[in-house]
Amino acid sequence: MKKDIENFIAEIDKKNSHEPEFMQAVREVSETLIPYIISKKIYHGKNILMRMVEPERVLMFRVAWVDDKGEIRVNRGYRVQMNSAIGPYKGGLRFHPSVTLSILKFLAFEQVFKNSLTTLPMGGGKGGSDFDPKGKSDGEIMRFCQGFMTELYRYIGPNTDIPAGDIGVGGREIGYMFGQYKKLKKEFTGVLTGKGLSWGGSLIRPEATGYGAVYFAENMLNHVNNSIKGKTVVISGSGNVAQYAAEKCIQLSAKVVSLSDSSGSIYDFDGINQEKLNFVMDLKNNKRGRIYEYVKKYPKAKFFKSQTPWNFACDIAMPCATQNELKLKDAEILIKNGCICISEGANMPCEPDAIAVFKNHKILYAPGKASNAGGVAVSGLEMAQNSLRYSWSREEVDSKLKDIMKNIHEACLTHGDENGYVNYEKGANIAGFIKVADAMLAQGVV
Ligand code: NDP
Repeated sequence: MKKDIENFIAEIDKKNSHEPEFMQAVREVSETLIPYIISKKIYHGKNILMRMVEPERVLMFRVAWVDDKGEIRVNRGYRVQMNSAIGPYKGGLRFHPSVTLSILKFLAFEQVFKNSLTTLPMGGGKGGSDFDPKGKSDGEIMRFCQGFMTELYRYIGPNTDIPAGDIGVGGREIGYMFGQYKKLKKEFTGVLTGKGLSWGGSLIRPEATGYGAVYFAENMLNHVNNSIKGKTVVISGSGNVAQYAAEKCIQLSAKVVSLSDSSGSIYDFDGINQEKLNFVMDLKNNKRGRIYEYVKKYPKAKFFKSQTPWNFACDIAMPCATQNELKLKDAEILIKNGCICISEGANMPCEPDAIAVFKNHKILYAPGKASNAGGVAVSGLEMAQNSLRYSWSREEVDSKLKDIMKNIHEACLTHGDENGYVNYEKGANIAGFIKVADAMLAQGVV
């Protein structure tokens, strides 16, 4: 078995060795899926995983735009259309200077499994650019978004590929891109999700990823007769996912003691309540400020420059910033400090060595493809509402989100049980795989 996995990885590595994040994601999935595939005759001789790791299509394009000084700037745009076996490509756009094809291929690959887990008919894709929105004026952001969409619009559509937000792409950027798409196509369609409420957006979409990751943690805890109530929670990031993960924790009577950004982490022993969180939301979403400004407003809190929050004692850790942000030594410290549950809000935030520590200590660990699927799930609900030309209430969407997270948890239990310990990673990989693989088999070799 080990040899089968190594041979497979070696084969993929031949073509992709220069893409470390993509290879990391492929390795993680292969380690649990190859034994499963070997145990199921219907997948034999179909080369199914080899077909799944190869994107159906990769688009790479120039985005030229003019900054406020009148200088011409050039960025690189991408869209990875990974797999459309169960529905049109669906997945976010990331604008961050670290964006490479490797990062977008890993995200697109993960997205295929995640979207399948939601049970909604969505294939997987991801895109973005190495454009850095930080420090740019509103006009510059708009011109970049327009330039990006002027190329991307040819390859997307409500029945083809429906992008959404991710790091660096929030409501403002979706608005500018939607406006440009509409102008170019002369159509008002649900081509992007994360839209504003008055022009086709869904209630609860901004909240969905963070809320969903907390609902997933609550499902895991309930399964072992525990709950989130009264627990101390450490959250990294202070963007969309982190903010709403914090909000839901507060609503469920947990105590959130940290948030972070790329400048460092804040620690608030008294807990971040809704009023303090509102300050963070205004700081990050409207003023585009830095997290250290929190301690100016709340001087009892402390700021730790350039540090991640994993040193702070907690019961629950929620990495909600970016990939590979939680390393082996962080995992060891979390365990030492008594952490019992990790629910990933970000994609692949825990390094493989860190995940191994969580599993060896048999604590609850949920991979992002399961725990952060609430965002894309509500994006799927936004698409459904757009098709119906109808809007559901906040309560309706939230209740559907809760059900979806519960169902994903159940699917992980079905396929991840290991003598009483739930291997959520294995459960999510297998449950996500089955639907996509079966659709691919039914559709022939295409
Ligand atoms: P945002 O851009 O809103 O926020 C990102 C946060 O992470 C910011 O606080 C940012 O800090 C921090 N961050 C980003 N890169 C780094 C880095 N290299 N080092 C330290 N901190 C960093 O993004 P989202 O909240 O939307 O996304 C966060 C994660 O969640 C990503 O992994 C994304 O793929 C994942 N995700 C998002 C979904 C969504 O619906 N938005 C859905 C599913 C997953 P700073 O501002 O200083 O850069």
